[in-house]
Amino acid sequence: MAEKNVTMDKIVNLCKSRGFVFPGSDIYGGFANTWDFGPVGVELENNIKKAWWKRFVQESPNTYGVDASILMNPRVWEASGHVASFGDPKMDCKSCKQRFRADTLIETYGKGDVIPDCMTNEEMEVYIEENNIRCPHCGNKTWTNIRKFNPMFTTSRGTLEAEADKVYLRPETCQGEYVNFLNVQRTARAKLPFAIAQIGKSFRNEITPGNFLFRTIEFEQMELQMFCKDEDSVQIYNSYKEKAWNFAKDIGLSEDKLRFHDHDKLAHYAKAACDIQYNFPIGWQELNGVHHRGTWDCSRHQEYSGKSMLYTDPVTNEKVLPTVIEYSIGVGRLTLATLCEAYEEETLENGETRVVMHFNPAIAPYKVAVLPLQKNLSEKAEEVYAKLAKEFMCDYDLAGSIGKRYRRQDEIGTPFCVTVDFDTLENDTVTIRDRDSMEQIRLPISKLVAYISEKVKF
Ligand code: ATP
Repeated sequence: MAEKNVTMDKIVNLCKSRGFVFPGSDIYGGFANTWDFGPVGVELENNIKKAWWKRFVQESPNTYGVDASILMNPRVWEASGHVASFGDPKMDCKSCKQRFRADTLIETYGKGDVIPDCMTNEEMEVYIEENNIRCPHCGNKTWTNIRKFNPMFTTSRGTLEAEADKVYLRPETCQGEYVNFLNVQRTARAKLPFAIAQIGKSFRNEITPGNFLFRTIEFEQMELQMFCKDEDSVQIYNSYKEKAWNFAKDIGLSEDKLRFHDHDKLAHYAKAACDIQYNFPIGWQELNGVHHRGTWDCSRHQEYSGKSMLYTDPVTNEKVLPTVIEYSIGVGRLTLATLCEAYEEETLENGETRVVMHFNPAIAPYKVAVLPLQKNLSEKAEEVYAKLAKEFMCDYDLAGSIGKRYRRQDEIGTPFCVTVDFDTLENDTVTIRDRDSMEQIRLPISKLVAYISEKVKF
């Protein structure tokens, strides 16, 4: 009998005990909302990134990859609007963890009898309390106090911590694509529509609860910016909604745990925005975003850099400022979704229980484990290991009963276990056990690579 029974605590514990993810700076008691990927987790994460890149760059015509600097010219963050929003008075809803600008709440839901810009934080808190202003998201009135909130981490360049030397750790990777639009267009001889894609770290001074990998202060984003003409933009936006859904499904997330969530409230420049949400153990939450950003990004960078961002159509000679469609997903957040999805507790026919991680084999951390039945078979087993390790991440485990070794591989989601026994010495065959069905078949060693390769493709 198989039951999911998944909770965030179980996932966190499994991750710690099996080497997926450890608390950041663990021996110092951790560091809030930071996590380190361990030997098993880093493989999972890398496989997810490889699958994303394969789908959205390798197999997508007119998509070009970049790897831009984390530290960018500070003017970039003026153009993006991040510098201007520094120090906004923010308050969090303690019930649903959404964060709001206190002044916007008063402007939108107040009686119109005050000007929030002229109020102190204390006055705004009293106004919100007395006028019974509730969370627009969940309807509760469980506000934190107002905090001046700085969403970007800063550091300084050079030796002086002077204002002029201040630089920011990027809070989003997409600016790296915008500033390279002209470079990529020229060198790739790209024609609209084309996309620039990137996988890289972003940093946000998040103060709302992290929920493990869901929200961290340092995280990786896999995202692309599609530059297009406005007349094509709605069709492209819709196609990325579909592509994002299919990727989430193909990586292994079940469709009954995915849903689209169209935004009602849009940024002033946006034409449309939609998240795909996943039903995490903490409820339905954003997994990725697809945004129609209009010409905002190109026009802002044109204004702030003084460089023309106009694209000249090679056929019509028409000059257009590109519209941008963005698709962005966090590596850690998707990794968390795949962990929650894969987790299952199973009671076996003999009454024993096992925890098994049913990852899509393409993203499973290890593809295969080689397990000699006894120590004196290790020479032959090492030979098999060396052969497989040239092709796949391959584990080798000699310690403990075979049952315990299978359980360990089930818990890290290894799709295949190869057992070397005494028959192997006679006829060069091994047993290969399937993680999900636990069925075993016997195969010649010479056929192992082809057998496994076929089943771990993305
Ligand atoms: P949220 O509303 O959850 O804070 P967001 O709307 O600010 O997310 P975007 O700026 O659109 O998110 O970022 C794109 C994607 O990056 C998100 O869909 C999510 O997968 C991921 N992401 C954003 N912030 C974080 C974070 N602090 N930790 C982990 N992943 C994140």
